[in-house]
Amino acid sequence: MRREIQRAEKLNILGELAASVAHEVRNPLTVVKGFLQIMNEEQNEKHRGYTQLILSELGRAESIINDYLNFAKPQMQKVAVLHVVDVVNEVVTLLYSYGMKNGVEVECCPLDGLYIRTDKNQLKQALINLVKNAIEATPTGGLVQVCLAEEKGMAVITIHDTGKGMSKDQLARLGSLFYTTKDKGTGLGTMVSLRIIESMNGKAQYHSTPGVGTEVTVSLPLCDV
Ligand code: ADP
Ligand code: MG
Repeated sequence: MRREIQRAEKLNILGELAASVAHEVRNPLTVVKGFLQIMNEEQNEKHRGYTQLILSELGRAESIINDYLNFAKPQMQKVAVLHVVDVVNEVVTLLYSYGMKNGVEVECCPLDGLYIRTDKNQLKQALINLVKNAIEATPTGGLVQVCLAEEKGMAVITIHDTGKGMSKDQLARLGSLFYTTKDKGTGLGTMVSLRIIESMNGKAQYHSTPGVGTEVTVSLPLCDV
């Protein structure tokens, strides 16, 4: 128990530190990006190539900063009754083009009538990280499916991918701080998702087979409407 409290305290301090650095760095980045976009319109071909490169690296810096800000973000700012299918549809729409860019189809199997009471942005963030991982694990031509079901008073959201899967060892390390197997990964996304789901009294379970794919099952308590 004491170790758990110590760990929570450390995570809090780390989160605050990460947030302040990320926040401070984000502002100058936004300014640089804005001017580059303006300059891009008035340049020759060669220079336009350079600015594209700079913009794409800025985009990468931005996404790293977002990972750190999400890691530190205060939980549950606006709790309300949510229609789960709407949130899932929003997440799938948001990541559809990211999937296309990677040659991965992102598909939704919707189900109406499931309501939960929670913070919408937090839930979206938790799902975005998981769907993003599914897309990133999946080779061109693969499929990511986000499905909805009801089971024993819970809304069940499954994220299924036909990606590279994980070994037992990898599964055991998943969700620990900074664990990543990607060149450009931060190793924060899964931890953020699992923390959010836990704070919603939900559960997340992984089933994965190397070379075949992964399925994450997120269960969240339903509410009365
Ligand atoms: P990041 O995405 O920045 O690497 P995450 O915490 O989101 O950090 O994920 C940690 C690691 O877990 C990933 O680098 C990857 O190796 C593994 N992982 C997560 N989700 C999946 C998945 N759906 N399929 C295969 N590997 C996964
Ligand atoms: Mg990730």
